[in-house]
Amino acid sequence: MKKGLLIILSGPSGVGKGTVREYIVKTNKIDITFSVSMTTRKPREGETDGVEYYFVSQEEFDRHVANGDFLEHASFVGNSYGTPKQAVEDLRNQGKNVFLEIEVNGATQVLNTVNDEGVISFFLMPPSIETLKKRIAGRRTESKEIIEKRVAKGMSEIKEADKYDYVIINDKVKTAGEKIIKIIQEKLA
Ligand code: ADP
Ligand code: 5GP
Repeated sequence: MKKGLLIILSGPSGVGKGTVREYIVKTNKIDITFSVSMTTRKPREGETDGVEYYFVSQEEFDRHVANGDFLEHASFVGNSYGTPKQAVEDLRNQGKNVFLEIEVNGATQVLNTVNDEGVISFFLMPPSIETLKKRIAGRRTESKEIIEKRVAKGMSEIKEADKYDYVIINDKVKTAGEKIIKIIQEKLA
C-alpha cells in the first residue's frame, strides 16, 4: 500500500489554520486524517479531550518527551504542544493522508527530520499584521496580555515562511482552502 502524505499547515496563531482546515475537511474533496496533538493548555469551552487535543498535565507531557514519543514538540506562549509520533506513522502506513496543524517551531522540526517525498508543507499568511491581531482578539479566547504575546510571536514566525513548499495568504477562507485542496490533489494524482 502506498504511504499516505504528511501535510503540514503552519503559520501564526490566529491566522486561521483551524478555520481553513475545517473548510478543507467539510468540502470532502480530499481524504485527510487530522492528527490529534497533546497539549498542557486547558480546554476552551466546547473542546473535548481526544477531539481537538489530548489535554494532559505538564508531568505527563514531559514523560512523553523523555520517552521520545513526539514527532515534534514545542512550547507556545506558556503551554506545551506535541504531535504523537507513532500515531502519525501508523496512519501513514495505512495509506491515510495525515494533516498536522502546528505552530512554526514544531513545523520546522518536522521539516528538518522527515525527509520523505510524501511531506508537503503550507505556511498560512495573514493579509496584514493588523488583520492577525483582529482575528486573535475576535476569537475572544485569550486575555489582552496573551493576545499581545501571540501577535509578537506571529511577527517573528512570518520570517520563516520561505522554508515551506507553499505560502498561502488567508484573505478569504474559501480561496485559501481551495488553493490548498488543489495543490494536494495534484500531489495525489
Ligand atoms: P488558528 O487556528 O490559526 O489559531 P483560527 O482558525 O482559530 O486560527 O482563526 C482565528 C479567528 O480568525 C477565528 O475567529 C476565525 O473565525 C477567524 N478567521 C479565520 N480565517 C478568517 C478569514 N479568512 N477571514 C476572516 N476571519 C477569519
Ligand atoms: P491553540 O492554543 O490556539 O490551540 O494552539 C496554539 C498554537 O499551537 C497554534 O498555532 C496551533 O496550531 C499550535 N499547535 C497545535 N498542536 C500542536 C502540536 O502538536 N505541535 C506544535 N508544535 N504546535 C501545535
